[in-house]
Amino acid sequence: MKHRINEINGRIRKAASSCNRETESVHIVAVTKTVSVERIRVAIESGISIIGENYIRDAREKYLLLSSHPVAWHFIGHLQTNKAKYAVKMFDLIHSVDSVKLAEELDIQAKKIDKVQNILIQVNLGKEKTKSGINEEDAPDLINKMSRFKNLFVKGLMVIPPFFDDPERVRPYFSALRNLRDRIGSSLDSCLVKNIAMDELSMGMSGDFEIAIEEGATYIRIGTAIFGERK
Ligand SMILES: *Cc1c(COP(=O)(O)O)cnc(C)c1O
Repeated sequence: MKHRINEINGRIRKAASSCNRETESVHIVAVTKTVSVERIRVAIESGISIIGENYIRDAREKYLLLSSHPVAWHFIGHLQTNKAKYAVKMFDLIHSVDSVKLAEELDIQAKKIDKVQNILIQVNLGKEKTKSGINEEDAPDLINKMSRFKNLFVKGLMVIPPFFDDPERVRPYFSALRNLRDRIGSSLDSCLVKNIAMDELSMGMSGDFEIAIEEGATYIRIGTAIFGERK
């Protein structure tokens, strides 16, 4: 696994330098759905510092067993409102907020534990019915509404684009997410809105992360390329 992670780091360095970006501006979120605690431990010992989980129940188990490891936990799956209370206890960043209703519940639960919860807004750029995320045209309004949630901090945007065999076909989705982030970011009045800063872009997976980096990704979510095919 160490070998695979080293190889990925090399590819990140290359992709970043090809577009004059600092390698340090790109963070690997190791996607650990279906991966055992033992293998996650090996990944951490091989340099992984962010764990990305899709399911609250699995995450709670792993979080307890790995509590002695100094890693950040990110939630990248679809979050049900009734699981918000568990999510705020574990996760440093929730990538998948896509409604006012969910944000409101996260705000309430974060307040209870005296936390400011970092979130990203998930955008459904492909307008796929099977995928979560807010439509592109509704994203600015949703993000404006976040300013009233004092226990949330909006850090940026996330996308899960449609799948293509040819990763180059995903590029337009990555650049669209970056443009949307820039557009929303420049329309914000940072004097008035203290809890929104559109800095982060969560995009790119095992098959297309180099293209995502070229288009501005700051978090790339990598499963298969680290752990091998999921069972
Ligand atoms: C599974 C998953 C990934 C990782 O996909 P790989 O192709 O295995 O790298 C990334 N993001 C999300 C939201 C996922 O569910």
